[in-house]
Amino acid sequence: MFAALPRKPFYCLYWTTYKCNSRCKFCNIWKMPAFDGYSDAKFSDAQKNLNDLKKIGVKIIDFTGGEPLLNHDLPRILSHAKQLGFITKLSTNGILYPEQAEELRGLVHWIYFSLDTTSREEYERIRGVDGYDKVVESIQIAKTLNQNICLTLTVTNENVDHISTIFDFCRKNKVTVLVHPCFSYFENQSLNRENILKIKKYFWKPYVRMNLPYLDFYFKGGNDIYHPKCKSGRSTIDISPDNCLTTPCFFRTTKKVQINGKLLSLYNSSKWGDLFRNAGKYDFCEHCTFECYFGLSYWDRVLGFDSNIYKQNLTIIKDTVEFLRTYSFRQ
Ligand code: SF4
Ligand code: SF4
Repeated sequence: MFAALPRKPFYCLYWTTYKCNSRCKFCNIWKMPAFDGYSDAKFSDAQKNLNDLKKIGVKIIDFTGGEPLLNHDLPRILSHAKQLGFITKLSTNGILYPEQAEELRGLVHWIYFSLDTTSREEYERIRGVDGYDKVVESIQIAKTLNQNICLTLTVTNENVDHISTIFDFCRKNKVTVLVHPCFSYFENQSLNRENILKIKKYFWKPYVRMNLPYLDFYFKGGNDIYHPKCKSGRSTIDISPDNCLTTPCFFRTTKKVQINGKLLSLYNSSKWGDLFRNAGKYDFCEHCTFECYFGLSYWDRVLGFDSNIYKQNLTIIKDTVEFLRTYSFRQ
């Protein structure tokens, strides 16, 4: 029997801005006044935080937002993360990438472009802006620049019957897609159980990636506050554009802690445990399916045995196959 990996943060969601140039139906960042008036993450703060994240043992930084490409400090931030040896991801809607591609070249390991449809009209209906052609252009530019990319497909009850068109697009363009069900948040509805089963049928399709244990978890109703699976603060931490630790998680922030260049000492203090002890146990945590805090949670059980290990291993094998199918080793 193998021991479980140590429970310490290895993944950071770095929210670089609350601004966005899209108007997606399923997102609240551009709708809610609570997100107005914040400046973007600054290089000087990010530099210190990244240094501390390295010392804490974090391995992967996901730079997200809002739309991260609206943050003018982003290239310097990415460059510093690269120097420190993090695995880096950038989650973007891709609209501004064509004009920034050269500047971003070689600064980030993976760029994830959001794409939920192959119809220009449908894109505009879902995302509220005429950006489809820009995303397609971004994919082509990134491939030309040898940039590793993946698409992210948010599946809703509305688009679930059309997702095969994205898979056809991926095969044609030789690009992988990460499939994730829309989670219940703001005005969004969870995906129906039968629609989760529809997604799973595509598991073995070329260029398609999905996390089977997470889909099972979603299918069974998400988090149970009496047996919580949330790893916020343990596997995953969030840093907001105004340089705060958002706890217990970004989506359900009840407390923000100003970092002020002291992330490491905060992590090493007893306050850290206090901030995250009840993650997954609050009333609002019941049925939670925020993937960032659960999908990853299975990874720290890879060396352990539980009922999910078979599906976890299948997910790892399939991810590896898709990784090898498209990964560019010429970084
Ligand atoms: S691109 Fe992302 S951050 Fe912007 S509105 Fe859409 S989902 Fe929200
Ligand atoms: S269970 Fe969900 S809402 Fe609760 S702390 Fe975890 S991620 Fe946040």
